Amino acid sequence: MQTYILASKNQHKAEEISQILGEGYTIITQTQAGVGDIDVVEDGATFEENAAKKAETIMQATGKPCIADDSGLCVDYLGGAPGIYTARYAGENATDGENIEKLLTALDGVPTEQRSAQFVCVIALAEPGKETRLFRGECHGKILTEKRGKSGFGYDPVFYIEDLKQSLAELPAEGKNAISHRFAALNKLAKETRE
Ligand code: IMP
Repeated sequence: MQTYILASKNQHKAEEISQILGEGYTIITQTQAGVGDIDVVEDGATFEENAAKKAETIMQATGKPCIADDSGLCVDYLGGAPGIYTARYAGENATDGENIEKLLTALDGVPTEQRSAQFVCVIALAEPGKETRLFRGECHGKILTEKRGKSGFGYDPVFYIEDLKQSLAELPAEGKNAISHRFAALNKLAKETRE
C-alpha cells in the first residue's frame, strides 16, 4: 500500500485521485496530514514547476511522500494560453462562466480547424531522499463556439472531443474520466509506482 499526501486542501480532489488510482493507494489531503496551514504560491512558469514546488514543499514539511497536481487548458491559436493562468484567466476570482466568456471572445471568428486545444495535467511525486518525478497527461480537443452540456466543471462545456462528437460536459463522469488529462497522468504514475 502506498500512502501519498496530496499537496491540496481539497478533499474532493483527493477522492477523485484516490478513485482513479484504485486499490493499493491511500491519498490524504495536507489538512489531514496536519499541515493545512501551508499555502504554496504557484509562481512557476510551467505546470511542471508548479506541481513540483507544491509536492516538494509539503514533502519537506511532513517528511513523507507527497503528490501534487497542476492542470490547465492550452489553446493552440492563443500560443498555449491560458496555460498556467487557466483558473484565473478572466481575473483572480473569476467564475467558470467568466473564464469561458473570455475564451470565446478571444476565439471569436476563428474557424473550427484552428480551434485545437489540450487540457494538460502534470502530477509531481516528491519522496524524501529521491528526485522528484513528473507525470504529464493530455486530453486533445477543439474549443466550441458556444457551451454544450451540463456536467463536469471549468471549461468542460466548450471543450469538444471530435472522436466522441460530444463536449466534455455532455459525457457522463466515467466517460470523461477514461479520456481525461488527469487520468492519463495518474495512470503513468501508477505504472511506475504500483507495488
Ligand atoms: P487545477 O490546477 O486543477 O486547479 O486546474 C486549473 C484550472 O484548469 C481549473 O480551475 C479549471 O478551470 C481548468 N481545468 C482543469 N481541469 C479541467 C477539466 O477537466 N475540465 C475543465 N476545466 C479544467
